[in-house]
Amino acid sequence: MTYDFLVIGSGPGGYVAAIRAAQLGLSTAVVEKEERFGGTCLNIGCIPSKALLDSSELYARLCQRDGHDISAHGIKIGKLELDLKAMMARKQQVVEKLTSGVDQLFKGIGIRTFRGTGRITAAGKVEVSAPEGRKQTLSARNIVLATGSVPATLPIFPTGKDGFLTSTEALSLKNVPGKMAVIGAGAIGLELGSVWARLGAEVTVIELLDQILPGMDSEISRRTRSILVKQGFQILTGARVLGYEKAGKSASGKAGKTAGGKSAAGGVILTAEDRGSKKQQVPADVVLLAVGRRPYTEDLGLAELGIKTEEGSGRIIVDGGFQTSLAGVYAIGDLIPGPMLAHKAEEEGMAVAEIAAGKPGEVNYRTIPSVVYTWPEVASVGKSEEALKEQGVEYRKGAFPFRANGRAVAMSSEEGLVKILADSRTDRVLGVHIVGPWASDLIAEAVTVMEFGGSAEDIARTVHAHPTLPEAVREAALAVDGRAIHVLGRKKS
Ligand code: NAD
Repeated sequence: MTYDFLVIGSGPGGYVAAIRAAQLGLSTAVVEKEERFGGTCLNIGCIPSKALLDSSELYARLCQRDGHDISAHGIKIGKLELDLKAMMARKQQVVEKLTSGVDQLFKGIGIRTFRGTGRITAAGKVEVSAPEGRKQTLSARNIVLATGSVPATLPIFPTGKDGFLTSTEALSLKNVPGKMAVIGAGAIGLELGSVWARLGAEVTVIELLDQILPGMDSEISRRTRSILVKQGFQILTGARVLGYEKAGKSASGKAGKTAGGKSAAGGVILTAEDRGSKKQQVPADVVLLAVGRRPYTEDLGLAELGIKTEEGSGRIIVDGGFQTSLAGVYAIGDLIPGPMLAHKAEEEGMAVAEIAAGKPGEVNYRTIPSVVYTWPEVASVGKSEEALKEQGVEYRKGAFPFRANGRAVAMSSEEGLVKILADSRTDRVLGVHIVGPWASDLIAEAVTVMEFGGSAEDIARTVHAHPTLPEAVREAALAVDGRAIHVLGRKKS
């Protein structure tokens, strides 16, 4: 048969595209090379990392690390032990629950699935090579490439030996390393660095650029840095790693003293250099390379069919309707330009299915939130102050600290702030930036307001339940006009 809609790859972009297409009545098939559906996000990315972030945060709290004071809650803790194996098993159960959920959704809505590597051989034709070597060719009117991305590597470092890890291995360590070096202070570096720091590793983050989370509003980035440093992170910014040598023994020199058992055997000493050419040695039992990801386009047959990609980044070039340079072939998610985020891929998946069904599928790229799941969390949507200044946009700023929010104080999670940037002339919300408890949830209100073209005054006049963290968002909106209630500031008539 000829399918109406065939998707290669079942990550958040691909599986959402397939489900939406099936909802719209298109005969739909999915080709996936791995055993489980869900792609990087569900198997070796967002979901397992969040499972470990939650477990490790619980452990750090009970250990009274990171400023947590459990005894102040009137709770006394006896002997506390880490069972890393059980923590990893729970993580895997979470992954299995969600990946099998995708399987059930596919079955329930009548999507045909094929296990194997998909390759486009001609317009409308996809060859599927099954793991056991069998090949078959499928026909489809619309083909969607959704194969995602893989970790970028640095030529000076090996991967998979001498303790060098990508995010995939860093999600499954068998022991807590004594010392962990993280190269790259993006989302992966800070999230996985947080997991292992909470479990007892000494973590040093080395970032090439001058701030952590480059691209993030710099006030929020600075505040996040100081919070992480208080948690025990060592952070070197504006630092380049020149190379490494093997340490010959555990770089931590304290194997057996770490929370989860012995540190990894071996270890390396990295040499980092700052902007002033000052060199610093960073010993590490393991080194996490978290320097970005690159689109996974191998095996797809792009070059043979003349499907155009961007020079350098390798991302597939698409038009406004996600169509590649070959008619009937579309690409979405990490394969195409834009932030490599699961929710961006999902939106593109919905849009491409709607376009294939003759509907006007669209993605609003101005309101894609980004979240970093450290504790406290970091979340933002829209323009940073730096971007507004660069573009010459006049704005007003309202900020509100969590230490003045009743719920945050009751939770003992007072660090951080909400910051709202609004157009000086129209009051339209241009950007919202948060570092604080459950920032990942708080940002949703900001995204909705921005989607509707709302103003800071709209948020300020909206009733927010008390006592809740979202009240901090409302207070920041009031602060845009100098009339926040729970902090002293400018008083307006
Ligand atoms: P990233 O692009 O977010 O961060 C990589 C960091 O490495 C940057 O700060 C960059 O300046 C730095 N860097 C690059 N080369 C370096 C070098 N030689 N030495 C030191 N630093 C160097 O990438 P990531 O953290 O690896 O994540 C990959 C992708 O996955 C990103 O697009 C990210 O947004 C996405 N992701 C998102 C989440 C989330 O939304 N919470 C979580 C994980 C990953």
